[in-house]
Amino acid sequence: MVYQIEIAETGERFDAQADESLLQAAASAGVALPHDCRLGGCGACRVKVISGALEYEEFPFGLSQEEADAGFALACQARARSNMVIGAGHAGAAVSPPTVVEARVIEVSALGPDVRRLAIALPQSLELRFNPGQYVNVLLENGARRSFSMASAAGVAALDFHIKRVPGGRFTDTGLAALRPGDRLDIELPLGTFRFHAEDYRPLVMVATGTGLAPVKAMLESLMDDPDCPPVSLYWGARSQADLYLHDEILQWGARLYEFRYVPVLSRPHEGWSGRKGYVQHAVCEDLADLSEHAVYLCGSPAMIDDARRQFLQRGASLDHLYADSFTFQHETALRVHDREIS
Ligand SMILES: Cc1cc2nc3c(=O)[nH]c(=O)nc-3n(C[C@H](O)[C@H](O)[C@H](O)COP(=O)(O)OP(=O)(O)OC[C@H]3O[C@@H](n4cnc5c(N)ncnc54)[C@H](O)[C@@H]3O)c2cc1C
Repeated sequence: MVYQIEIAETGERFDAQADESLLQAAASAGVALPHDCRLGGCGACRVKVISGALEYEEFPFGLSQEEADAGFALACQARARSNMVIGAGHAGAAVSPPTVVEARVIEVSALGPDVRRLAIALPQSLELRFNPGQYVNVLLENGARRSFSMASAAGVAALDFHIKRVPGGRFTDTGLAALRPGDRLDIELPLGTFRFHAEDYRPLVMVATGTGLAPVKAMLESLMDDPDCPPVSLYWGARSQADLYLHDEILQWGARLYEFRYVPVLSRPHEGWSGRKGYVQHAVCEDLADLSEHAVYLCGSPAMIDDARRQFLQRGASLDHLYADSFTFQHETALRVHDREIS
């Protein structure tokens, strides 16, 4: 059986066999849909089903039931069961196609007790266009990949990253500590669909945990001194005050952003901490009973994002205006697929 799929925004059409995913079918027809892991884990290929029916062999773990109920689907896993019209979302500014480049380390320095800043220089010949919010894959020797969000806005020949040490982690612990200025680092970029949605002009609620701040910083830097910058509330969750590794710098952002509100929230504060306590998503709920008029950006731990999504939807937030980037572990996705294959 062959079905016809139409992309609402562009009018592009392609055929999809019943036994292939929408993403495979689009790729065979030369239609570009955003994607990354192809395993139903990262959510980068999320599309809106405007009409038509689909089926999954197995419900993808990168899609929540609420998203499915609201008509979203993951193109890398969904198989058409009728002709369909899908919305692939606004693409944002045109970005460069993902490419592998040989970068050079400029600096590795401590930002906080468990967070390092990695600065790298890109080849001078590279003309890179990316959306703030996107990430890169660092390529390790055996072909393994580790993802890190760019913490700097586009338009520079050097990139910044905030990297949290995972104890025993091959790259974030051992590999990163061994890097020296001038060392070669192979990376693939730009990747991912997390970005600032200028077309979604609403007050922004941005919620990050830990180094989830990195892509949020890149987005906010791109909005600095912009007369069209919407009001911004940034909630940043960390365990202790020492983990608020960019606190002093963030305090300066208000001078260059329109109506900027910054709320650091500590889950394990020391005794003298007079600021907000608890989980960052709960602080948002305490402050904003109605999220129906906001654009919400979530970035960082999968647990925070899952909980925030659930709680925010109950407070009127809409999945059409909620954008998330979950720092899942790469091999977790691979392992889940492996488990699925052998079970
Ligand atoms: C799209 C995306 C963007 C990301 N951006 C950033 C970023 O900007 N900054 C950042 O610090 N991290 C980011 N991450 C998370 C980062 O990719 C992982 O922490 C990293 O891959 C760990 O690599 P490693 O080689 O050090 O650990 P590994 O050697 O791969 O793992 C060592 C052990 O730690 C566990 N583990 C792996 N990752 C984590 C983790 N994140 N938390 C807890 N345990 C873990 C593994 O299951 C394993 O048991 C991002 C992830 C994704 C998917």
